Amino acid sequence: MARGPQDLDRRDLLKALAVAVPAGALGACRMEAPRAAASPPRPREVANLVDAQPTVEGAGVHLRRALGSHALPMLDPFLLLDEIHSDNPDDYLPGFPTHPHRGFETVTYVLDGAMEHRDSMGNHGHLGPGSAQWMTAGHGIVHAEMPLQERGGTDRMWAFQLWVNLPAANKMIRPRYQDIAPARVVEAMVDDASVRLVAGEVDGRRGPVEGIVSAPEMLDVSLPPRGSMTRALPPTHNAFVYVIEGRAEVGSARTAVAAGQLAVLGAGDLLALRSASGGRMLCLAARPIGEPVARYGPFVMNTEDEIRQAVDDYRAGRLVGG
Ligand code: MN
Repeated sequence: MARGPQDLDRRDLLKALAVAVPAGALGACRMEAPRAAASPPRPREVANLVDAQPTVEGAGVHLRRALGSHALPMLDPFLLLDEIHSDNPDDYLPGFPTHPHRGFETVTYVLDGAMEHRDSMGNHGHLGPGSAQWMTAGHGIVHAEMPLQERGGTDRMWAFQLWVNLPAANKMIRPRYQDIAPARVVEAMVDDASVRLVAGEVDGRRGPVEGIVSAPEMLDVSLPPRGSMTRALPPTHNAFVYVIEGRAEVGSARTAVAAGQLAVLGAGDLLALRSASGGRMLCLAARPIGEPVARYGPFVMNTEDEIRQAVDDYRAGRLVGG
């Protein structure tokens, strides 16, 4: 059979899989950055398609885990993506009572309902629809994240939590908290898409989250039926698309991705999205760290010794101080 576009796609797919799939086990994964693409700009194709897994987390919150499950333990530097989406308060009211973090960043993005946040730095936030919070745990924070059943509101809760790793040099930095009110999220049209930009840049406008070491881009993209969007993505970054409503077709291969599916993107320089029937998706990209990962519950470090230290520090009340 003559060499045609399918052969090229297949080679790209294999190349992308080679960089996108974690090389190690759950305990310690190492990944390399996608190789910089040659000109002309090349759309990123779907390298791996993962179904979000039903999971119970916190004090009994029923959610779907798109990243951080056995199906996809991590995509350096992304460690976890959870979606809470329910009209039944029993599914989310148990919440995430007081718990620690060290060595990475937690990102909360709320579409509907509300989440109350209190932490050991004295921050107290109320995250309503459209708001975001980028919390750099650094050497340690203790916090509670509690979904609320708003009086007079609907019973719906729709929110996401993303975990982003920190490199060894930044794991023990001072904690930092960026609370982003809905109005500060940049809204822009890109081709047919209406985009809410939490981090990164669109048309020379920067998203509100700043100073994050992995130079992340976080876009909430809504495409109308028969809509499309193409924009640059740094070729150095690992990237994924998680469809949260409707459907999308990703890359020049137009790989179909349905709500509740996460598409790991292979190498290239462009994010190319279409939707025949309309869809909404979270698009994330960040520079991979390429270091060993040791994770244990709410602690993400480089070595098992550092995990033991974090557990000891938490038990001794030293996690937050220092
Ligand atoms: Mn937390």
